[in-house]
Amino acid sequence: MPLLSARRRVLLGGLAILAGLLVSVWLAGRYAERRHWSETAIEARGQLELYAQSLRILVERFRALPAILALDTEIQALLHDASDPLAHERLSRRLQRLNQEAGAGVLYLLDLRGEAIAASNWQEPSSFIGGNYAFRPYFQGALREGSARYFAVGATIGVPGYFLSRAVRDADERILGVLVIKLVMEDLQRDWAGQPGILLVTDQHQVAILASRPAWRFRVLQGVPAKLRAGLDDARRYGVRELQPLAMQSLRRLDDGAELLRIDGPDGRRDYLRLSQSLPDEGWTLQLLREAHVPGGAVRGYALAAAGIWLALAFLFLFLGQRQKNRRLLLRRRAELERLVEERTAALRQAQDELVQAAKMAALGQMSAALAHEINQPLTAMRMQLGSLGLLLAKNDSAAMRTCLARIDGLLTRMAALTGHLKTFARDTPSGLRERLQPDTVVDHALLLLEARIRQDAVQVLRRREPLAWVEGNAIRLEQVLVNLLHNALAAMAGRERRELRIALRRDGGDWLLSVADSGGGIAPEHLSRVFEPFFTTKPVGEGLGLGLAVSYGIVRESGGQLEVHNAGGGAQFTLRLPAAASPDTLQPSPQEP
Ligand code: ADP
Repeated sequence: MPLLSARRRVLLGGLAILAGLLVSVWLAGRYAERRHWSETAIEARGQLELYAQSLRILVERFRALPAILALDTEIQALLHDASDPLAHERLSRRLQRLNQEAGAGVLYLLDLRGEAIAASNWQEPSSFIGGNYAFRPYFQGALREGSARYFAVGATIGVPGYFLSRAVRDADERILGVLVIKLVMEDLQRDWAGQPGILLVTDQHQVAILASRPAWRFRVLQGVPAKLRAGLDDARRYGVRELQPLAMQSLRRLDDGAELLRIDGPDGRRDYLRLSQSLPDEGWTLQLLREAHVPGGAVRGYALAAAGIWLALAFLFLFLGQRQKNRRLLLRRRAELERLVEERTAALRQAQDELVQAAKMAALGQMSAALAHEINQPLTAMRMQLGSLGLLLAKNDSAAMRTCLARIDGLLTRMAALTGHLKTFARDTPSGLRERLQPDTVVDHALLLLEARIRQDAVQVLRRREPLAWVEGNAIRLEQVLVNLLHNALAAMAGRERRELRIALRRDGGDWLLSVADSGGGIAPEHLSRVFEPFFTTKPVGEGLGLGLAVSYGIVRESGGQLEVHNAGGGAQFTLRLPAAASPDTLQPSPQEP
C-alpha cells in the first residue's frame, strides 16, 4: 500500500508541476500580449497625434480666407449688381489668382439663390459657374449662421472636399451672398498611404470621409440608421456612392482607450487594434487601425522565461522537500541505531555480568576444597573442646569450662565470619554499583578467603598497608579481582622452593597502585600479551577456564582503572591502577573493618 500511495503522490506532483507550467506559460503569453498592445498603442497614439496635427494645420490655413474675402468691396459690388458680365470675369480671374497663391481647391461666390456667379475654376471644364448649390448645407448654414463647414463629395465633378463658407454682407449687415472655399484633401490622403496601419477620418455619421487606403473610403463604420442615411443621400453628400458598411465587433477594451476589434473590411475579416482621437472643431474622429497580431517571438520568449522560472522554482521546491525528507529519514535511522546500540550495550553488560558471576563461581569452586578443610579443622577442634567440656562438667571445674567455652566461641566466630563473607562474595553484584572503599580492606577480605590455602602451602605474605588510601569502585568485584590474582599467584608458586607473596599499595599522582607479586617463575614472554584474553590458559583441562584475568581486566577498566602485568623478582607482578578518591574524615572508624 505505501508503495502505491507513493507512486500516486509522484503522479500528483508531476500533474501539479505540469498544470503550473501550463498556467505560467499561459499567463506569460497574456502578459507578453498586453505588453505588446500597450507598446503598439503608445506608438499609434503618437502617429495619430501627427495625423491630427496635419489635418488641423490644413484647415486652419484656410479658415480665415473666406472671412477676409467676404469683406472685399469688389465682391460685395458684384453681388449688388450682377448685370456686368465683365465684372464677373474680373472677379473670377482674381479668385483664380488668389487660389493659386493660397493653394486651396476651389474659391467661388454664390448669390442669394445659391448660384455660382464667380469661381476660381471658371476656365476649366469643371467650372462651377452657373451651377446651383442652394441645396448644400454649407450654403444654408452660412445664410443662417454667417459661416459653415461641411464635408461632401463635389456635386459637379465628384471630387470630395471640405467646404468652408462665409456670408457676404453689406454695410447694413444684410446678406448679399456666400463665399465658399473648397479644400481638396486628396494630397493629404496620399501622404498617409505609405504609413503603417489604416487611418480613417470619420464624420459625425461614422462615414469614413478620408482613408489612407482607398478601399476603406466611404464605408460606414457602425451602420448608419436608415432615416439618417436617407438624409445623407438627399444631400448627395457622398455623391452617387453606395455606402458600404464596415462591420465591427469589439473584442476587448485595452488601457488608454485602445480597443481590439474584429472588422469585416475590404481586406477580409481581421483583428485590429484601434486608437481614436476626436477633432471637435470639425466634428470628425481620427481612427488608426493597426493589425492586431502579436509577434510570436515575443510571446515565445516570455513563455519560455516563465516556463524556466516555474520549473526552476518547482525543482528547488522538490529539492528542498527531498532534503527535508532525507534529513528526517537520517534522524529516524540515527534514533534506531542509537536504540540498537543501547540494546546491545545492555545485552553486553548483562552477558559480562553473567560472565563475571560464572568466573566467580569457578573461583568459588576452586576454593571450596580448601574451605571445606578450613571449616573441618575448627569443627574437629570444637568436637574435642566439647568432649573436654563434658569431662570438666563432671569435675565441676568452672574456670576451665569457661576457658573451653571461650575457645568454642572464638572458633564459631571465625567460622561465621568466613561463611558470611563467602555468602557476600557469591552474591551477584550489578556492575553499576559504586562506593568509596579502602583497598587495604579489600585485600584483607581476599586474603581471608584464601587463608587456608596460604597456610597450607606455607606461603610467606609480605604486605605494605596504606590506611589513608581510598578509591572508588565496587568492593565485591574488586575483591573478586584480588582473589583471582592471589589464586593465580598461589597456583604459580605451588611446588616452588621460595613462596613469597608481596602485596603493596603506593600513590602515583592521582591514582593508587596496588601490586600483587609472586615468586612463581613469571609468565613466558610470548604469553605476556595474551594473559588477559578470554579463555587463554596454560593450565591443564579441568583446572583453568582462562576467564579469570579477562574478567578481572574488564572489572578494573569498568571502575576507571587499569590492570597491567610484567615479570619481576622471579615471578609475575600484577598492578592495579585505581583513581584515588578523597578520604573521608580520618577520625571516623572504617565501617568495613570487621
Ligand atoms: P586460569 O587461571 O583459569 O588459567 P586466568 O585468566 O586467571 O585463567 O590466567 C590465564 C593464564 O595466565 C594462566 O593459565 C597462566 O598461564 C597465566 N598466569 C596468570 N597469573 C599468573 C602468575 N601469577 N604467574 C604465572 N602465570 C600466570
